[in-house]
Amino acid sequence: MHEFSLIQALLRRVETEAQATNAIAVHRLSVCIGQVAGVERHLFASAYDLCRRGTICEKAELDIDYVQAKWACRVCGRDVAQGEVLSCPDCGAPARLVTGDEIVLKQIEMEIA
Ligand SMILES: [Zn+2]
Repeated sequence: MHEFSLIQALLRRVETEAQATNAIAVHRLSVCIGQVAGVERHLFASAYDLCRRGTICEKAELDIDYVQAKWACRVCGRDVAQGEVLSCPDCGAPARLVTGDEIVLKQIEMEIA
């Protein structure tokens, strides 16, 4: 499942960071997930609960922020509202996604020995 590989990549990255800073525990992870990143929030959360066992994140809370997708005109930059046809109301050019497809590890709260 897609969410499992995302979580495994996330945990590997946190373990690398933790080793680099000699952390002995991780208390909290904050991630940002875009609305159109293709991530199911409950699958992401349950994948985390399964995969964190035995890792440095075993006791770490996972905070997930969902980021609304935003679209804008490719040509003139005008905001294109979601739900409308995804093309510019002024010039008719196709819209491009400005934000909303990202998965970002924002913050790690670690305990340093
Ligand atoms: Zn336009």
